Parts: sequence; structure tokens; C-alpha cells
Amino acid sequence: MSKNQLQPTNVIACEECGLVSRLPEMQEGQSAHCPRCSHTLSSVSHQPCEKLIAYSVACLVMLAISLSFPFMSFSVKGITQEIFLINTVAMLDAFEQSALALLLLLTVLALPAVYLVLVTYLHLRIWQQNVKGRQIKASSKLVATCKWLFKFEPWLMADVFLIGVLVSLIKISSMADIGMGYSFWAFCAYTVLAVKAISLVDRYWIWNQLIPPISQPGVKVGSDHISGEHLDCHQCFQVNLPQSEHDNSCVRCGSALHPFDRVASLQKSWAYLLAAIIFYFPANLYPIMYTTSLGNETPSTIMGGVVLLWQLGSYPIALVIFIASVFIPMAKMFALAWIYWNANRPKSYVLTQAIKRQKLYRLTEFIGRWSMIDIFVVAILVALVQLQNLMAITPGPASLSFAAVVILTMLSAISFDSRCIWSNASTFEECNLNE
Ligand SMILES: [Zn+2]
Ligand SMILES: [Zn+2]
Repeated sequence: MSKNQLQPTNVIACEECGLVSRLPEMQEGQSAHCPRCSHTLSSVSHQPCEKLIAYSVACLVMLAISLSFPFMSFSVKGITQEIFLINTVAMLDAFEQSALALLLLLTVLALPAVYLVLVTYLHLRIWQQNVKGRQIKASSKLVATCKWLFKFEPWLMADVFLIGVLVSLIKISSMADIGMGYSFWAFCAYTVLAVKAISLVDRYWIWNQLIPPISQPGVKVGSDHISGEHLDCHQCFQVNLPQSEHDNSCVRCGSALHPFDRVASLQKSWAYLLAAIIFYFPANLYPIMYTTSLGNETPSTIMGGVVLLWQLGSYPIALVIFIASVFIPMAKMFALAWIYWNANRPKSYVLTQAIKRQKLYRLTEFIGRWSMIDIFVVAILVALVQLQNLMAITPGPASLSFAAVVILTMLSAISFDSRCIWSNASTFEECNLNE
């Protein structure tokens, strides 16, 4: 295989719509899309290893800097409070919000760091293989790393946290003098680099570099999950032929294979969604935080906060909070319920309708994590504004309920098998290749 040749000709089942198509030989800088639903099957940049390693090492250095210096300072009437980034976690923990502290630690700092270290390691090994000819031995540890790594992706939220920081800054800039430390600027760089590095990761390409796909001559190009003639691996994309009724594991990565099951997938998604709807009530009825000013404690709910900001004339920030914390969670729950309801009625299938539902599902999956902004705003304000009776902000009971709404709707969308939207294969063309 030449250096630039990325993978041998191979069949792939689209993870969104289930259609099996054949990918031609791909070169660096090309991407392939599903001919039916246009989902990106694979997209590899020029010099993928070198680029990814450069971005993620730079990103990890920025993360180390942002943890080592003061993050922000807050001064009112001559009293100054300075915080480090890690104080946002520590203060939530101090106010007995350990679950939120853990959530913040994992999604903003720990998971992105672990993810970047592991993808850097994988790309280093692939680079050694392609450039130095040092063949990768796909050990069970390496395969397990690859399987777990990609499950982290929806939970990497450094970018959401950065927007949370900016919202908090605008929220409190009228009450006090805010100073930004070195760590703040390093964190901005960390976020930008992390978003870029994550966008360079191509799961399909990585698996093909680690273990070449195994040819399964019985798999028909143009068929899909409804045919029941093949089982696709959700981990490594290998299309498998069913082996026996009770024991099916992927021939390439060894993961357990499950036949397409509309009912089981929908039950799980509905269960998470109903739980999210239940948590939505306490999230809106109870205060999300308490503000103490000159000894007076005022509780504020999510909607109360929006109204207050609006009355104070901070229209853009009131709008951001309203969209992220009120509109998106509601719209997401309605959209998911509508998608699940219609996915249960496969007889009404029309191709254009399926494409629309698919787009809506992708949109809800993409925007869902941004609702976490309000939780991060609470975390930052609680860490920053602690000047005893003069001015202090403490977390309220709704913050945990609201985080539960965001996490449960995300879990609901993740556990939904989008192939439920597609109930029969109707169109098929050779896969498109775009430069
Ligand atoms: Zn597709
Ligand atoms: Zn597999």
C-alpha cells in the first residue's frame, strides 16, 4: 500500500441510515458521503497524523498553562477575589454539589485531556507504521482503547464552558471589576485547538489503519439493516455476516453484534426522554442560584434570571440564556418525541420525509450539549463571587436537576438508533467522492 493510499476498496454500512455502499480507494484530503442520506462516512485531511499530533500537543500545553495560573479576578469596593480554573470545581464541591463538580471536571478538563492523549498516541503509532514501516500490532489493549475513546466524543465540552465563561463575564461586569489572568487566554487557545483537533479525528480511517477491514463476500452493496442479511459493527464499521443465532461477534474487533431492533432502541430512548421531562419541572421551579448582596439573599430561577437580565437591559445575554436554557431543552424534547413517535410507524415511509427527520435528529444531537451553558455559568459565578456578606453567589437545587435534563436528553438522543427512521432501501448510487 503506498503512503498516500488510505484504505483498500471496502464496503461500509452508513451508521445513520444503514445503507451498505462501496468506498472507492480514497486519498488524503478526500471525504466520502452516504449516497442516500449524505452522512459523512469518512473524511481525512492532508497529512492527518502530523496535523493531529501538532494540534493536540499544542492543546495539551495550553491546558497545562490554563491550570497553572490565575483564571479570573473579581473586585468590589476594594475587596478582590482571584480564582484558578480548578476552583470552579472545588467551590461546587464545597457547596455540596459534588455531582456537578464531577461533571465539570470530567467534561471540561479530564475527558478532553484523556481523549487528546489517546488520539495522539494512536496517530503516532499510525505515523510510525506509514512512514517508518513499523507495523502496528493490534493488541487487545489497543482495540479496547479505540472502542472506548470514541464514546467520549459527545461529552467533551470545553467549548461550551468557554461560552459559559463569556456569559458570566457579561452577567457580572456591571456589578464589579473583572480581571482576566494568563490562564483565561490559555483556556481560550485550549478550546479552539481542542475543537480543531477533535474535528480531525476520523474513526473509520483510524480503525482501517489499525486493523485492515476483513472482506465478507456475501455482503450485498445496496442492501440495508432491514434485509437482516448482515450485521454492522457500531465500533469499527466492519460489515459482518451473521454467524449463528446466539453468538455473534465482529470478525475484526470482537465487539458483540446486535441485530437491528427498532422496539428495544425506541424503548431506551423514550425511557431517557421521560426521565428528562420529569427533571425539567424541578429544574424550572426551584432556584438555580442564590445571590447574597449586603446580607440579603435572593433566589433566582432560570426564567427569573432571564427576565431580570431583560429588565436590566442586557438583551443579548438574556436572549443567549433564554435560548440555551429554556428554548433548546424544550425544543429538543419535543423534537425527539416527534422523531421517536414517527419512527414507530415505519409504514408511512417516504424518502424526503426520512431525510428531513434525519436532519432534525442530527440537529438535536448537535445543539443538545449547548444547554450546559447555564450550569457552567453557575459554576463560574459560585467560584468567583465569594465576598461573604458583601456579595456572594451559591448554587441552588435546580442546577442539579437542570444538568440531569441536559444529560438525560443527550443519552436519549445517543441511544436512539437513527436507522429506525429508515425502513427500506430505495435509492442507491455509487458513493460520491468530494475533494
Ligand atoms: Zn446513510
Ligand atoms: Zn467491529
